[in-house]
Amino acid sequence: MIYAIGELLTEFVSHKTGCGLESTTEFSGPFPSGAPAIFADQVARVGGQVSMIGTVGDDPFGRLILHRLSSDGVDTSLVGTSASLTTGTAFVSYYADGSRVFVFHLEGTAADNIDAPTDLPEGSLLHISGASLGNSKIRAAIHYLVGNVRAICRISYDPNIRAELLGDRKAKSTIDMLIDHCDYFLPSDADVETLFPGKSAEWVIEDQLASGKRAVVVKQGDQGVVASDGNTTLRLPAVPVDELDPTGAGDCFCGAFLGLLDQGWRFEDALRAANIAGAMHVSKRGPMEWNPALADIQKRLAPQEG
Ligand code: ATP
Ligand code: MG
Repeated sequence: MIYAIGELLTEFVSHKTGCGLESTTEFSGPFPSGAPAIFADQVARVGGQVSMIGTVGDDPFGRLILHRLSSDGVDTSLVGTSASLTTGTAFVSYYADGSRVFVFHLEGTAADNIDAPTDLPEGSLLHISGASLGNSKIRAAIHYLVGNVRAICRISYDPNIRAELLGDRKAKSTIDMLIDHCDYFLPSDADVETLFPGKSAEWVIEDQLASGKRAVVVKQGDQGVVASDGNTTLRLPAVPVDELDPTGAGDCFCGAFLGLLDQGWRFEDALRAANIAGAMHVSKRGPMEWNPALADIQKRLAPQEG
């Protein structure tokens, strides 16, 4: 079983680019969102067994998230429902150059009021999205759970690092602990630049494998991915698509990759499938609206293999 822990949100996306959330405009949403939720949903979409740890409010947004996750196959028995707090929300608007502005409501909502279990079944895989570490309450819940289970579970870590977090002593100690103790290290190119200034993706892969990781995967956006499990090293170019919405591609990629590995797929096959999943994700809009099903990934995989 794979476990994901962190913020559960509903997201609203402005129709108009360039409004910067500073003028009145029309929005689409609410969409179920939150990096760990996008990840968990994608694990389920490729047929993996996954359970989400987080909290929603006893309100329509909470019911929307619970309904989407469970109808896609995510176990929601560890998602708490707060009677008094509302579901976390995020608003996002894009600019013409693809950059974006967010307004998050996480603090003091159900999203950062996580009642994490003290333990997980031996042999499980616990996935951490670094996006969650910016919130001190969620970070504390993650630090505690990882500390409790790291001897008996595998840990995967996608840093999604924000440089300012490295200046926060407590956040830095959680980040260091996750880098040291994760079994699957899944940074993006930008994470590599921030965490290992001046080092190449290949250097980080070698360095981290030498310190005992099962696999290191460097996600490179429209350049694809470079990765190794110590036996096989692969560099895959990106699958050509028109990028419409890059948000959540990394979470989708990690969900497909780990979801398939956990079902016994070979490293290189899981990586190829995840590279396709990430490309399919960016070609449509919405945080998890277009998390691809395994059958749709396989349709693209077959011609590549032939
Ligand atoms: P996030 O914004 O979710 O944190 P990330 O930086 O962690 O994303 P990316 O490298 O942007 O992750 O994307 C993950 C994977 O998705 C890439 O390694 C690649 O396989 C695929 N991907 C991302 N962008 C594109 C693109 N423009 N074209 C094709 N594939 C893409
Ligand atoms: Mg990322």
